[in-house]
Order: sequence, then C-alpha cells, then structure tokens
Amino acid sequence: MVAAATLGPALIDAFRASLRGALLRPGGDGYDAARQVWNGMIDRRPDLIARCAGAADVIAAVTFARTHGLVVSVRGGGHNVTGNAVCDRGLMIDLSPMKGIRVGIDVFSIWLDPAEDERHLGWGRAFGTALGSFSRGVYVNEMGNEGEERIRAAYNPATFDRLARLKRQYDPSNFFHLNQNIKPAARA
Ligand SMILES: Cc1cc2nc3c(=O)[nH]c(=O)nc-3n(C[C@H](O)[C@H](O)[C@H](O)COP(=O)(O)OP(=O)(O)OC[C@H]3O[C@@H](n4cnc5c(N)ncnc54)[C@H](O)[C@@H]3O)c2cc1C
Repeated sequence: MVAAATLGPALIDAFRASLRGALLRPGGDGYDAARQVWNGMIDRRPDLIARCAGAADVIAAVTFARTHGLVVSVRGGGHNVTGNAVCDRGLMIDLSPMKGIRVGIDVFSIWLDPAEDERHLGWGRAFGTALGSFSRGVYVNEMGNEGEERIRAAYNPATFDRLARLKRQYDPSNFFHLNQNIKPAARA
C-alpha cells in the first residue's frame, strides 16, 4: 500500500479537480474537523480526505485509490467505536456530506360501493395532481398503465429511448408487457 502523500502534486490536483466535493489535506481548512469521529481517542491522519458530494465523487475516489494502491477508509457517520472510518496516511472517503432524503408518497382510496367510483377516483387524482407540483420524480415501480408519454417523462426521454432499444434486443415480442411497459423501439 502507498501513502497518498508520496503522490505528486499534479496527480492530487487532477483528483481534486475531478471531485464536486472538497479534497482536504493536513493543515488545510476543515481537515481536523473531518477526521474527528465519535470516539475522541481516535487521532488518525489521512493524507487525503475526499468529502464526497455524490455517487460520482465516490466512484472517482475509489478509482483513484485503486489506481495508486492507497490505503483507504470509508467514513459514514463516524460513530464506530474503534474509529475504522479514519485511516492513517491513506485516503479517507468521507460520505458524511451525502445526506439526501427522498420521500415517496402514495395516494390510496378504498371504497365498497361502485356508485362512488367517480368521487373516489376524482379525489385521488386531484390529490396526486396537487402534490405533483412539488415533486421531482416518480417511483416507477408503482406506475400503472398510464400511457407512453407519462412513462417516457418518468424515465426521462434519453433513458426511455435506451430502454426501448434494450427491449427491442431482448424482448422484441413485448412478452413482458404489463404496467409501466416500455414497448420495443421500432427498427431504425
Ligand atoms: C455509543 C454507541 C452505541 C451504539 N449502539 C449501537 C446499536 O444499538 N446498534 C448497532 O447496530 N450499533 C450500535 N453501535 C455501533 C455503530 O452503530 C456502528 O459502529 C456503525 O458502524 C456506525 O455507523 P457509521 O456510519 O457512523 O460508521 P463509521 O464509523 O463511519 O464507519 C464504520 C465502519 O464502516 C465502514 N463504512 C462506513 N460507511 C460505509 C459505506 N457506505 N460502505 C462501506 N463501508 C462503510 C467504515 O470504513 C468503518 O470501517 C453503537 C456505537 C456506539 C459508539
């Protein structure tokens, strides 16, 4: 295993430039706070701390460590009592800035009398539409057969087109056709 400090500055600068989050080094702003974990007796000093801002940063950090044979530790909440989240000399991949929360909301209405279909369906649709203006996505597993345009929008057009091409390759007869079906793309 290689100590990250032995890597040349050009390599480290290129790594820093590839990250959306910060790359911290000993003596720099935020370095000591980032290496501190729940157990105050842990006093380890990674040569590099990658404060990952998203999945792409994690991929870049793992790739960098693998390419250069670095000692690695991964920090989540830093609560582990033995302080395994912090390594000495290597690269600490710090996931603690990644604190996103996604909330999924399902709207259900249950009734017994078929004469009330319209009232309940109307209520459910109106509620869903009202919430939709606050939404930034769709949980596609719970979509029904809502028409191709709706499904296309849920996946985003580029992903939808790629899935339709895959469908043409692996299920050209559209055997799996239920619910959020993506029809096989037409041959170009
Ligand atoms: C006072 C106290 C009470 C506790 N009570 C409980 C309890 O009731 N139940 C329980 O289950 N545990 C308990 N724990 C243990 C604690 O929850 C675990 O140690 C847990 O690992 C802490 O999670 P963390 O994200 O803070 O881990 P960290 O300290 O950040 O990391 C722990 C280990 O997991 C690795 N790691 C972290 N994130 C990732 C990741 N995304 N991918 C790969 N590896 C990763 C780290 O490299 C490290 O080796 C307790 C600990 C303390 C100190």
